[in-house]
Amino acid sequence: MQLQEKMLVRVKHLKEIKNARPLTHELGGLFTLGKHHIVNDVQFSRGNVCRDAHGNLLTHVKNCSVTHKDGEYVFHTHPKSNRPSSGDLYNAIKGFPARKKNFVFSPTGIWCYGATKQLSQKIRNMTSDELRIQIKSWRFMGHMYQHDTQNINCDGFIRFLRNEGFKCSFLPYSVLEAKSDDHMVRF
Ligand SMILES: [Zn+2]
Repeated sequence: MQLQEKMLVRVKHLKEIKNARPLTHELGGLFTLGKHHIVNDVQFSRGNVCRDAHGNLLTHVKNCSVTHKDGEYVFHTHPKSNRPSSGDLYNAIKGFPARKKNFVFSPTGIWCYGATKQLSQKIRNMTSDELRIQIKSWRFMGHMYQHDTQNINCDGFIRFLRNEGFKCSFLPYSVLEAKSDDHMVRF
């Protein structure tokens, strides 16, 4: 890992986003890094309302998403799904290398993922048909792992994503809860 990719976030900031995660829409935003690669600011945007208070998709909406400022370290929340979507994965590649790390605050923990040089090269060399098939296959595999990921068994899906060429990790909220607010988590 290159040094400039290091990122340290205070548990306080992570809990702030975890606690703000709504069930009816997505939040998204940007981490800004200060001295020593430590996050010193978190900016939020709000997505369209797409689910009811129980987390069920509203009938007139096609998807849940949020448009937010782009940057090197971006995050968004998921009301229900406990993994990055195929669209999230593709966005990470599209944004690469300017986009260094991507985070999803899911119902049970924090996904950190990103593209690699090899993967972004592979995707850029694809025809539009190949790309469409690639994204569909990530979507299909996401569904294959859905039962596991919804039950916080994320290892299989993480292995799959790493084999596809992504960097990927998952931090359960239970680990966060055990730490003090000023503790730094390294991604
Ligand atoms: Zn997402």
